[in-house]
Amino acid sequence: MKVIRGDLKGKKGIPKNGLCIGVHRAGTMHRRYAQKLNRPLKIWSLRPDNDLLAYDKADFEGKGLSTTDNLDDIDDSLIFGVRGAPPQVREEAAKRGLEVIADATCPYVVEQEEAAVEFLEKGLNLVMLSDPNHHGIPRIRGIAEKLGRPFFIVPTVADIDSINLTRKEPIGVIVQTTFWIETYKEIIAVLLDRFADVHIRNTACIDSLQRLPVVADLARDTDAIVIIGWTEGMTNRMVETARSFTDKVFEIKHPDDLDPAWFEGAGAVGVIGANETPEWMIEAAASRLEAMG
Ligand code: SF4
Repeated sequence: MKVIRGDLKGKKGIPKNGLCIGVHRAGTMHRRYAQKLNRPLKIWSLRPDNDLLAYDKADFEGKGLSTTDNLDDIDDSLIFGVRGAPPQVREEAAKRGLEVIADATCPYVVEQEEAAVEFLEKGLNLVMLSDPNHHGIPRIRGIAEKLGRPFFIVPTVADIDSINLTRKEPIGVIVQTTFWIETYKEIIAVLLDRFADVHIRNTACIDSLQRLPVVADLARDTDAIVIIGWTEGMTNRMVETARSFTDKVFEIKHPDDLDPAWFEGAGAVGVIGANETPEWMIEAAASRLEAMG
């Protein structure tokens, strides 16, 4: 069995370690402040269970870093994690006098929030193309609530029916940063049919634009594909993308999850990590697959 690793080398905007730029940047910030301050430090996160998995978690914890989504756990200072925070959390942190040592929110997440604010302040009704369970929803919902405007989440073409607006009411459309362009082109086409005043901002991040086509090529060129990841954004989009080419898509969170029965009769198997998957996991999974062949 031939094992083919998804080749992200040289892809614009993807760091050499294969993480996305937002996660790579946040890790650098966490490391820097842990070393500089040399004391326990909390990262406020929308996904506290996930936010250190991309790095050497034990090393970070040894340096005093830990994550939480509860401001009550924080004594005097914090870092905002890569996924950002709803405005209400930022305001509450300020009200409590907590010092924000650093804000590691991904710049693409910040751009998405800026687009949402711009549309809402212009009086548009905000439509977000996204999985409703994505961790970013509370941020954008929080922004819409703060500005007192409606917010609609549209994961599929069928969900357009749930937008209870008339044809003439203006809509501003943003997308989840990790979207798969082919899925959302379909939704945009139907939105343009249904509404007369449509404003669109493509808020996809560079990682989705570069990583998902590699997934598509890998799924097309192999008999089965293994995706290692746990993020409800990029990992789910990678699985969705691969499934448009093959049924043999296996999503795992750790190399130990691999089952040899999945690959019986396969001539070539692809393996690729999501945006928070450390390189060692991809190598370990590839080695296990090679040993199975
Ligand atoms: S997947 Fe994209 S939006 Fe999410 S942290 Fe990475 S670069 Fe930022």
